[in-house]
Amino acid sequence: MMMKINTLVLSFWMVTMIFGCSRQEKVMDGRIGCNSTCEVHHVQMDTYIVPIDRSVVIINPTTPYDLLKAKLFPHTTKHFESGTCLSDGTDKAQIYVCSQCETANNKWLNEMAKETIDRSNNKKDK
Ligand SMILES: [Zn+2]
Repeated sequence: MMMKINTLVLSFWMVTMIFGCSRQEKVMDGRIGCNSTCEVHHVQMDTYIVPIDRSVVIINPTTPYDLLKAKLFPHTTKHFESGTCLSDGTDKAQIYVCSQCETANNKWLNEMAKETIDRSNNKKDK
């Protein structure tokens, strides 16, 4: 009886391993054609695997933030903006991310948030 239970458990484990591991994530290489050195900070960038955002189509940066980002901290994106439909099930991409762009972007966002709060408080005071 014990032998049969062990065989059953072993069979269940083998089926789980075979089918559970068979779905491999499809990851596209979004680094193709990109330089691995940040053109703003002149440092080697790290590779990240990030989700693909199909809802974003960037043709040209249009908002002031997009324009600023492209100029001062271009490699901060934590998702890959595909702008196209990838019907093969690819849901992640490898991209380059610059740690100094991340720092500059976070610093800028914090300053803008602080300025907005200060402006809001000044309006209340008047
Ligand atoms: Zn950078």
